[in-house]
Amino acid sequence: MSTINNAPIVLTGDRPTGPLHLGHYAGSLQQRLRLQDEGYRCFVMIADMQAYTDNADNTAKIRNAIPQVVSDYLAIGLDPSRTTIFLQSAVPELAELTMLYMNFITVSRLERNPTIRDELKMREFERDIPSGFLCYPVSQAADITAFKATCVPVGDDQLPMIELAQEVARKINRAGGREILPTPKSLLSKVTRLPGIDGKAKASKSLGNAIFLSDSQKEVKDKVMAMYTDPNHIRVSDPGQVEGNVVFSYLDAFENDQEKVEDLKRRYRGGGLGDVTIKKELISSLERVMMPIRDQRAANDVDYKDIIRQGSKVAREAAVQTLAEVKDALGVFSI
Ligand code: ATP
Ligand code: MG
Repeated sequence: MSTINNAPIVLTGDRPTGPLHLGHYAGSLQQRLRLQDEGYRCFVMIADMQAYTDNADNTAKIRNAIPQVVSDYLAIGLDPSRTTIFLQSAVPELAELTMLYMNFITVSRLERNPTIRDELKMREFERDIPSGFLCYPVSQAADITAFKATCVPVGDDQLPMIELAQEVARKINRAGGREILPTPKSLLSKVTRLPGIDGKAKASKSLGNAIFLSDSQKEVKDKVMAMYTDPNHIRVSDPGQVEGNVVFSYLDAFENDQEKVEDLKRRYRGGGLGDVTIKKELISSLERVMMPIRDQRAANDVDYKDIIRQGSKVAREAAVQTLAEVKDALGVFSI
């Protein structure tokens, strides 16, 4: 396993397309906190270059989201003295690695990527797909391998990207005749995909169907009250469906007392338990998760740019080294 000072290396990140939400928390952020606390060498990347691939006409959105994402990181407890928080565009070696890797991955391989296919449909690019967007999985392979990460905590939408990064690592190692890049592995959390409050398969910033970590108590309450449940559960006495019911998906993800959740499910299925009752339960479960995040955010008084600047300096040192090794493996001419 690749290590720095014997600690396994972790790389994760988020696109700065808006504030982070409970999907990130359940799918990835909680894992990062655990890994940070267990002493892993953690790199957390704000993927601005990736965000431009489908937002090139709206750079203001990305610019405004970067401080929001840093604020969310610190509010949940990521600690810049233990976790390197950096900006993708401040490490230009990642772009160089991407250019080199693109020569090893065919266009049809990228077009077959199921996550890309879903995202293309969602974004309605029709035939006008920005080439940068189609290639972003290659840039993710560059991000992961640049730090020689062995462990990538992600939601399940990212599994095809990790597979591609593994393929790139194998190809570079074969070209170099030795193990230059470790094979990265994904680390899935219990909640691999938190649904949107509207019942859509995934809570996402772009779909605007998420509860944000920065939402006020009132916003959380209003969103839970508007949550998609079982459309056929009309009277309290009617039997209700638990599967596909967003309130139960969130209770599964965020309520500590799972016995209580099982009891609520049983009573809901049997009829006699109203949507308002389960929603109230969820509101208090979410408050327990979100209150400490709100408190930490209020206590934070930091210079966001300074945190990113310092983290990017550290990240760049690692990426410079890997780029040199990859160029050497490929026999690239150097002066
Ligand atoms: P965008 O809509 O701009 O793509 P997003 O909400 O999908 O934003 P990303 O920045 O693409 O968020 O995702 C960052 C990380 O969070 C990834 O590892 C992704 O798998 C995870 N993640 C995002 N949304 C969810 C979700 N609803 N459930 C579980 N994990 C999620
Ligand atoms: Mg996404």
